[in-house]
Amino acid sequence: MSNESSALASAATEADRVVKRQKNCSTKFADAVDGLLAAVNDSRNRLQDDSTENALNDLKQHVTQLGVSSELHDQTKQLHGAIAKLGKALEKAFVPDICKATRPVEFDQDTLNQVVAEHLFHEGRFAVGEKFIQEAGMANGESLKKPFEAMHQVLKEIRAHNLEPALHWVEEHRQELQRQPQAKGFEFKLYRLSFLNTLQQQGHKAALQYARQHFARFKDSNMPEIQRLMGSLCYTRRQSSSPYAEFNSPAQWDDVDHEFTRQCCGLLGQAYESPLLVCVAAGSVALPTLLKLASKVVGPQQHEFKTAPQLTVPLELGKEFIFHSTFACPVSREQSTAENPPKMLPCGHVLASQSILKIARGSVRTFKCPYCPAEATPQTCREIHFPDLAPLA
Ligand SMILES: [Zn+2]
Repeated sequence: MSNESSALASAATEADRVVKRQKNCSTKFADAVDGLLAAVNDSRNRLQDDSTENALNDLKQHVTQLGVSSELHDQTKQLHGAIAKLGKALEKAFVPDICKATRPVEFDQDTLNQVVAEHLFHEGRFAVGEKFIQEAGMANGESLKKPFEAMHQVLKEIRAHNLEPALHWVEEHRQELQRQPQAKGFEFKLYRLSFLNTLQQQGHKAALQYARQHFARFKDSNMPEIQRLMGSLCYTRRQSSSPYAEFNSPAQWDDVDHEFTRQCCGLLGQAYESPLLVCVAAGSVALPTLLKLASKVVGPQQHEFKTAPQLTVPLELGKEFIFHSTFACPVSREQSTAENPPKMLPCGHVLASQSILKIARGSVRTFKCPYCPAEATPQTCREIHFPDLAPLA
């Protein structure tokens, strides 16, 4: 178990102790109050045939015997002790000061405002977003909101199992979508779900009618799936034995929901996931490592840690945070840029253009490839372009 999780486990144990103490305490308090009530009732009954003084004296004695005060005092003390221990355990489990791992960055306020506003609209939180653009005094707030508003209106209908607005949107944007390779198949996906929805809501006659009306266009691209959909019509009354059970899966709606967001954001020139969300998520993945690093650097190195353009150790964020391929020269270890693009030698090995010039000591001399015996001159090396390489900065 790692340090963090064992610290968390001991905090959880302390929390259990607090709960037990609290229960104990509450039972003891209830018992004490019951005891006191019984004593008071008892002496009230005795008032009828005894003198007031005697009754009160007896009551006083009785209460002292019960020892309520010291018992409750003890209980409360133990409860507070347990709470204090829990507080300490929690402090140990969570690093209280994350500022050690941060660095002073001067944000451009307008850009930051735009990022926050776009995030709120992207997530469909329009009331908060509107308040934000109003308070931040953003002149372009409305224009940021509009495209996302349209997207969320369609999403709302999809979530209510109404695909009409989504189909309408696709029809409106068909030409633009055809230019997007990742939009391939999306339109059929919508018609397919709409067919299944018709089948479920209105029965197989209506579904067949729907298929006749809409599937002809997709016969070249999606015939096998259309055949399966038609096959499922035979099982409308025997769904429990249907081999097409997945056609009833509610996950299909989530799938279309995500896919619509993806296509819509694609056409808007926006990322599928809110960039702010991705930044915060990446930051929280990196934070434990950064904190560990920050606690190890001392003295003058601290300044370097806060200002150096690059970290001294690589920080693995995981696949979900990789959006483009990057090319790092195997010789210089530097990432390629527009000024220093990757180039392929005739032997097939790829180096950064500056590394080639360095190895060849100029642009005309013959040099040996660092990775095989083949020879080349800088002129015989060809610049290469990776299709999904991050835009060369
Ligand atoms: Zn080579």
